[in-house]
Amino acid sequence: MTAYDYDLFVIGAGSGGVRAARLAAELGARVGIAEEYRVGGTCVIRGCVPKKLLAYGSRYHQELEGAGAYGWSFGAVQFDWQTLIGNVRREVDRLEGIYTRLLENAGVDLLSTRATLEDPHTLKLADRDAVVTAKTVLVATGGHPHLPDVPGKEHLITSNECFLLDALPASMAIIGAGYIGVEFASIFAGLGVQVTLIYRGEQILRGFDEELRLRLAQGLRKRGIDIRLGAAIASIAKDEAGYQVNFAHGDPVEAGLVMAATGRVPNTVGLGLQQIGIALGWNGHVVVDEFSKSSIDNIYAVGDVTDRVNLTPVAIHEATCFAETVFNDTSTPVNHTFTPTAVFSEPEIATVGLTEEEAREKYRVVDIYKSAFRPLKYTLAKREEQMLIKLVIDAETDKVLGCHVLGPDAAEIVQMAAIAVQLGVTKAQFDATRALHPSVAEEIVTMRHKWEPPTPVAGSDAAA
Ligand code: NDP
Repeated sequence: MTAYDYDLFVIGAGSGGVRAARLAAELGARVGIAEEYRVGGTCVIRGCVPKKLLAYGSRYHQELEGAGAYGWSFGAVQFDWQTLIGNVRREVDRLEGIYTRLLENAGVDLLSTRATLEDPHTLKLADRDAVVTAKTVLVATGGHPHLPDVPGKEHLITSNECFLLDALPASMAIIGAGYIGVEFASIFAGLGVQVTLIYRGEQILRGFDEELRLRLAQGLRKRGIDIRLGAAIASIAKDEAGYQVNFAHGDPVEAGLVMAATGRVPNTVGLGLQQIGIALGWNGHVVVDEFSKSSIDNIYAVGDVTDRVNLTPVAIHEATCFAETVFNDTSTPVNHTFTPTAVFSEPEIATVGLTEEEAREKYRVVDIYKSAFRPLKYTLAKREEQMLIKLVIDAETDKVLGCHVLGPDAAEIVQMAAIAVQLGVTKAQFDATRALHPSVAEEIVTMRHKWEPPTPVAGSDAAA
């Protein structure tokens, strides 16, 4: 029998890689992990965690504006980017230390270098003239921002560089209205930057519930974000004053910085994957089965590099299933259904399950329950803004197919609702749950009347 240096070698110490390495080591495997940048990966170093801290920072202005109605007064309101980003960077350093110690305490060998595959069991380490061998290899290399292929694309920054800015520009154009575009538009606008959000489609956040998309766009515009829809980028230009985003039609947008938030691509180039015959998909992702196994038997892949559902908790779930399957003798397929997700904009949105549109395509009769209301907290401050809670129900089984929330603490509410939805909760069971009063989340169990489309008014176009 061949003696390998490791039972498992993981390439990439992000959320998925670290979880798999730790679990396998705790199950008795000899584990090595290579990381060429920083331990923690996109989520901890330049993604979810620092982004959420910036989102918290960006919400204070609005909170302070409302505080007067509650009797509070302050001196002149000032914001200092250096303080915020400095504190965020220190927190990221602290978390990186924690992740590193977690690996060390589990007995994992952490190699701070790039590893590439020479054959299915042999890895070359870039910082030394040596190879290591492993029985099983896990590719967990994540992804990186994709830039649109337009003239002047070298002027674009991405979310990566947002965490490195030493000063905020007065204005910013953001191209792309997915998760990152919408979140950063909201963050920068909250911090006082004049933001233009540029999107090629008809409405921001393709794939989310239509009503949520519409109401979120209204909420962002209310906060001063200029949303340009149907805007196809022709080029980016630079002069002494700043940058211009030019379109096939219409006036250019001038801005102090231009950010591309136009999706991410898997990190598979130069890893030796193709050379050893691993099947890659359309954008270079590692093609895997339900156990995260690639086309080569001893090589697995988890997280964004597989381009399945690109979210941190999903990468962690995939890593856990992998460790259970390979190192704990328990075949555990991944489950991507009912994954809750949120966009940490202001207002925040969160969602689990099917959108109304998806449900109407898949089910014969769909009932909608929804409540749009002003949160109690906004009343004293006279903030005219509505929260939305919406349930999508299969009328034949009464099962809750989807839950969509826009407003304060949407993510927290949907995380809790996701437990019930995953377990197959029915609307009647929601109704039988006591409300927690007064809270905004209580609306989720107090909606008694099915939503009916408004009856067309006689003489209107709709009635014709
Ligand atoms: P998304 O796929 O969410 O959005 C990309 C946006 O860019 C879309 O609006 C897309 O338009 C547009 N776009 C793509 N290519 C072009 C192009 N060539 N020219 C103009 N516009 C273009 O990607 P993000 O970069 O926002 O985020 C990457 C991933 O990171 C997300 O899918 C998500 O999985 C994850 N993420 C999750 C977060 C969370 O959970 N809160 C936060 C941040 C990221 P169109 O719709 O027409 O394709």
